[in-house]
Amino acid sequence: MKYFSLNDRSHTSNFENAVLNGLGPDRGLYFPQEVKKLPKQFFEQISSLLKTEIAMEAISPYVGDEIPPSELEKIIKQTLDFEFPVKKIEENLAVLELFHGPTLAFKDVGARFMAGTLGYFIKKGNIPKVTVLVATSGDTGGAVARGFLGVEGIDVVILYPKGKVSEIQEKQLTTLGQNIKALEVDGSFDDCQTMVKTAFLDPEITRQRKLTSANSINVARWLPQMFYYFLAYQQVKKEDQKLVFSVPSGNFGNICAGLLAKEMGLPIHHFVAANNENDVVTRFLKTQKYEPATSVQTISNAMDVGDPSNFIRVLEIFSNNFSDLQKSLSSYSFSDGHTREAIKDVHDKTGYILDPHGAVGYLGLKKFLEKHDDYFGVFLETAHPVKFLETVEAVLNKKIQLPPEIENLNQKEKRSIEISNYDQLKSFLRD
Ligand SMILES: *Cc1c(COP(=O)(O)O)cnc(C)c1O
Repeated sequence: MKYFSLNDRSHTSNFENAVLNGLGPDRGLYFPQEVKKLPKQFFEQISSLLKTEIAMEAISPYVGDEIPPSELEKIIKQTLDFEFPVKKIEENLAVLELFHGPTLAFKDVGARFMAGTLGYFIKKGNIPKVTVLVATSGDTGGAVARGFLGVEGIDVVILYPKGKVSEIQEKQLTTLGQNIKALEVDGSFDDCQTMVKTAFLDPEITRQRKLTSANSINVARWLPQMFYYFLAYQQVKKEDQKLVFSVPSGNFGNICAGLLAKEMGLPIHHFVAANNENDVVTRFLKTQKYEPATSVQTISNAMDVGDPSNFIRVLEIFSNNFSDLQKSLSSYSFSDGHTREAIKDVHDKTGYILDPHGAVGYLGLKKFLEKHDDYFGVFLETAHPVKFLETVEAVLNKKIQLPPEIENLNQKEKRSIEISNYDQLKSFLRD
């Protein structure tokens, strides 16, 4: 499969180089040249297929012959070795739990798949060593650290803002050791992001080290996020109703993977992009004007994005046709107050505990279902509520039980290097 850059379509790449480089030479996001329609038969028989078989069918067109099927299957098995249950919590409404992976957030899927493919290409090509450089506001860092832990030929350097990630998130990035280094930046997430971008453009570093990013701009992190939409469909097909999926969205990588799956024929009729107060897409769908804004801080902090990088891919899926986009996608935005209320209401009514991101997804779904009662709705619970312990316990006014893997984290020792400016990052990378 060939990919083209969304900045300049004449810049094309195979899958391997798209994964190794992250972005096109013009800094544009890569997009597949062709979106494959899967055979009807596949969806008719999906109930009898294994997770790995479903994922192979979905991803193979985008990998082509660049990874042999037996290797690809190994990578997929490792990526998906936990559960993706759909649980009905109300009439016509279910939650897709994406938090059963090692760092308790959906980003484990993309991070593991990318680690597997990048590891494969490095080994095959005798590429000396690659450094994955990534800035995180919380969940990405942990998932990437865990996904790449011990992968031969790869060093991981994670920048995170000091004092601005949750305790559990910090432990997840700083306690692994081996090929994972955590840099604690005296600054904001935006400062971390700026330093990373500067490093990518700094020849004094790139002459010495091959750098790549592990954000959802990388096709190897973006595309495997399709898998769980297929796995959810397998579970709700029996409802025999029109389906709507609501996705709590920040950088729009996750929902964009769902929309791609739909374009490939997955029978999901509609999507809801659920936003917190960072509502650039909600506004766009009303006004057709895309007006990025500085991000504001909320309790669903992984969605605090003012200019979502993957939205350009969403537009491309619909060939930039606004009315087609509106037919498949709705978007609503909710305040922290609404989000807290939803966590409380759902717990009171059903006993189910939402995290703040899932709560925004739930609210988006309810809003859509108010006017469309002939649909069956699924919202994505993108992280385990214990990752946002303080918020959730304060809202519910009770203690939540920690899963054993989190209890263990508390005993591990934090190892990070403090930096406060770009020169310190640079000398770290040049050593
Ligand atoms: C990253 C993240 C999101 C946002 O996902 P995007 O793909 O950036 O839209 C939502 N919820 C949680 C818990 C996350 O970690």
